[in-house]
Amino acid sequence: MNYRITTIPGDGIGPDIVREGCRALDAIGKKFGHSFAYTETLAGGSALDATGEPLPQATLDACLASDAVLLGAVGGPKWDTLPGAKRPEKALLGLRAGMKVYANLRPALMFPQLSAACPLKAEIVAKGLDILIVRELTGGIYFGDRGRNAAGDAAWDTEAYSVAEIARVVKIGFESAMKRQKRLCVVDKANILETSRLWREVTEGMKGQYPAVELSYMYVDNAAMQLVRNPGQFDVIVTSNMFGDILSDEASQITGSIGMLASASLGDSGPGLYEPIHGSAPDIAGKDLANPLATILTCAMLLRYSLGLPKEADAVEAAVASVLDAGWRTGDIAGGASDRAALGGKLVGTRKMGDLVVRQIEAM
Ligand code: NAD
Repeated sequence: MNYRITTIPGDGIGPDIVREGCRALDAIGKKFGHSFAYTETLAGGSALDATGEPLPQATLDACLASDAVLLGAVGGPKWDTLPGAKRPEKALLGLRAGMKVYANLRPALMFPQLSAACPLKAEIVAKGLDILIVRELTGGIYFGDRGRNAAGDAAWDTEAYSVAEIARVVKIGFESAMKRQKRLCVVDKANILETSRLWREVTEGMKGQYPAVELSYMYVDNAAMQLVRNPGQFDVIVTSNMFGDILSDEASQITGSIGMLASASLGDSGPGLYEPIHGSAPDIAGKDLANPLATILTCAMLLRYSLGLPKEADAVEAAVASVLDAGWRTGDIAGGASDRAALGGKLVGTRKMGDLVVRQIEAM
C-alpha cells in the first residue's frame, strides 16, 4: 500500500528526529511492501520565520489531506518573547483543534533495559511500568469560557463537558483497555466537580458494552499519589484535559526517559497526529545528541493506530528493544559519568541510533 504522511519537523531537534523516524518507516516499507510519500510542512518557530504565522493554513490543509501526521517539536528561546497568539506553541493547539483530534494517548512505558533511570525505588517498579494515559484533548478548562472582571481583580476559567465529548474519549479508553490488560480507571474529582459526576454517569452508561473490562474510578489527587506509590496498579487511565496534562507528565517522568516516550492524538476519522512527548530541546539542537527513539516509537503508534499495520508497529518496537538489548545508548539514557565511560563506542548520536534501528529492521 501507499500512504501519505505529512511531516512537521518544527524547531530545535525536531528536524533531526523526524528524519530518523522517516528512515525507520522507509525500512519498514521495504520490508513489508509499503511505500510512504512524505509532504514536509512548516509549523512553530520555523513557520513564524518563513510566513509570520505559527500554523500556516497550507500546513493544516496538507495534514488534513494525509493518512497521518508526524510532528517533531516546536518552540525555542528565539520566539519566547513573542505575544501569545504568535507563540510557536499556538501551532499545537491549532493542529489539535483543526484536525479534531480529541483523544491523546500517552504510553508511559519503562524499558527494562533502562530501569536504572527510573527515579522510583526498584521494588516499586519490580514488575515493570506500562501505563496508557488517555487524555481528553479538545474540551474542558483549556477551551472553556474565560475572562476577567472589569476591575481586573478577578478572573475565571470554565470547565465544561458535554455527554458527547465525554462518551467519545471514554470509548477510546475502553477500547484501548480491551487491547491491553482490560483495566480502565476513570480519574476525576467527582466529590467536588459536576463535570466529573457527568463523566461517571456517562461511563456507567457505557460499561455494559465492555463486560470484560474491570472499571474503577479514582480522585485525581489520589491518582497523583498512587502513580508514585504503586504505578503497577494502573493499565489504562482516561481523564479530562487538565488532569491528563498533569498526570501524563508525572507518569512519563517516572519512567525516567523523556527521550523514549511517544504519543498519538486521535479523532473519529481523519488522520491522527503523532509526536514524541518531549520538546524541541534547544540546548542540544544541531549537535547530533538527540535521542530519536521517542520519534521512532511514535512512528510505531502511527503504523498501529492510523495505518492499521500492527505487525509493522511490533517490528519497530522490537527493533528498538534489540538495539537497547545490545547496549547502544544516546547520552540521555546513558546514565552517570561512570556508566558513560563504560559504554565506550556504544554511546552514540542521533544519526547512528537511527542507523542501528534501520539495520535491525532490515535484519529481521
Ligand atoms: P524539552 O523536552 O525540549 O527538554 C527538556 C530536557 O530534556 C532538555 O535538557 C533536553 O535536552 C532533554 N531532551 C528532550 N528531548 C530529548 C531527546 N529526544 N533526546 C535527548 N534529550 C532530550 O523541554 P523544555 O526545555 O521545557 O522546552 C524546550 C522548548 O520546547 C520550549 O520552547 C517548549 O515550549 C517546547 N516544547 C514543545 C513541545 C511540543 O512541540 N510538543 C513540548 C514541550 C515543550
